[in-house]
Amino acid sequence: MSIRGKICAFLLLFCAVLLALLWLFQVVFLDGIYKQVKIAEVKSAMATLEANIDDVDSTADYLFQSRSINTTVLSSDGNVIYQTGGNMMRESIRELQRLYTLTVNDGGEFFEYPFSEPESEFMPFPDFRRQQNINYSKILSDGKLIFLSALITPVDATVSTLKLELYAITVIMLLFAVVIALLISRHVAKPIVSINNSAKILAKGKYDVQFTATGYKEIRELADTLTYAAGELNTVEELRKELIANISHDLRTPLTLIAGYAEAMRDLPGESTPENAQVVIDEVSRLNRLVSEVLNLSKYQSENTIIERVEYNITEQLRGIVSRLSEFTRVDGYVIELNAEHDVIVNADESAIAQALYNLITNAINYTGDDKTVKVEQLEINDSVVIEVHDSGSGITARELPHIWDRYYRSEKKHRRAVVGSGIGLSIVKSVMDKHNGEYGVDSQEGHGSTFWIKLQK
Ligand code: ADP
Repeated sequence: MSIRGKICAFLLLFCAVLLALLWLFQVVFLDGIYKQVKIAEVKSAMATLEANIDDVDSTADYLFQSRSINTTVLSSDGNVIYQTGGNMMRESIRELQRLYTLTVNDGGEFFEYPFSEPESEFMPFPDFRRQQNINYSKILSDGKLIFLSALITPVDATVSTLKLELYAITVIMLLFAVVIALLISRHVAKPIVSINNSAKILAKGKYDVQFTATGYKEIRELADTLTYAAGELNTVEELRKELIANISHDLRTPLTLIAGYAEAMRDLPGESTPENAQVVIDEVSRLNRLVSEVLNLSKYQSENTIIERVEYNITEQLRGIVSRLSEFTRVDGYVIELNAEHDVIVNADESAIAQALYNLITNAINYTGDDKTVKVEQLEINDSVVIEVHDSGSGITARELPHIWDRYYRSEKKHRRAVVGSGIGLSIVKSVMDKHNGEYGVDSQEGHGSTFWIKLQK
């Protein structure tokens, strides 16, 4: 069901319930309710009179004026003490006699509400026949008699007026409901339709679509959220394209080399040298490294990967990494200095931190200056340990600084060593540190080297 239909249906239902209630109370129950109110009034009037029997005159006057209740009070020997209106008519004497007999028969208290047509021998006007009285009489303990009588006017005339009014109200309310439903639904449906159209464009892969909506707060928020989601999809899509371009480029170079060397070794007997085999092995390990970096990144960036914290000696770990990397790079003349005063214990995921440290130190080796020196420093600041990796390279430009932690970002410059970067190393560091709630950063100035650092709780 459309929004318009639903709102219309709800409003019509609401009107129907409201009108039904109005009809019930104004037309169907009006007579009954009116009579009940009158009966209650007469009963409370009797109680008031009983309580103020010494001041009958003013109490009864008040009852007549405020509630149109007629009162007659007789003394125990039958004399009239009070009667509303003063002079008694023949008709009312007869009526009093009738009520007196009924009251005595009923044991001192008699209540009568003849809602059916009263049978009377004499009625001066035809309309008068239709009037009805509530009669209530009581003999008090001192023998006094109180007769109360209240006139009930038939509500038929009122009911037919109300009916007419209600017909008009019904028609007006139904029209109103339809008009309001149309207005509201137009207001709600219009922005949703426009959002829906934009979403269709988005589904076709046009990620720069803008979701615009006016009107309700929730709908505006929905539009903003969708615009944001479209932007995120756009970023992911761009990264995906970039990744494919990067990876295929990175894969092609070693694969071409491997194929070339392998063919030469097969076809030319003289080329089957250990050096050539080494080139093939080196290229294979480069491919291997690339693949494991991509896997590592997706592992640490995945929401589901939980780091396994253990307490371990990070200084010990640092020494191991530095000595292994020194071993590899010594032949090329690289020097990695480690400066750590005390052994520090941290509570972290050992292999994830190792991965981050490896990435920072190999980056420093790759980018350091002509002195081929990398300094690794362990500092203790309050209850934290900071590991800094300095290199003497050309540094990072202020323009590049904000981007180096992004996935697949790599600067245009060539690495110093013949290692092609994947643009993944620093994003792994970022993911690992984020998972540890640790801090990380870089201080770098163009031409003055860089200092990358990570910080963990001791
Ligand atoms: P890559 O595999 O390209 O080194 P990273 O994510 O490790 O990928 O680094 C991203 C970019 O950050 C690099 O391309 C480089 O421009 C810059 N970068 C990283 N470390 C250093 C450093 N020690 N000195 C200068 N630039 C660096």
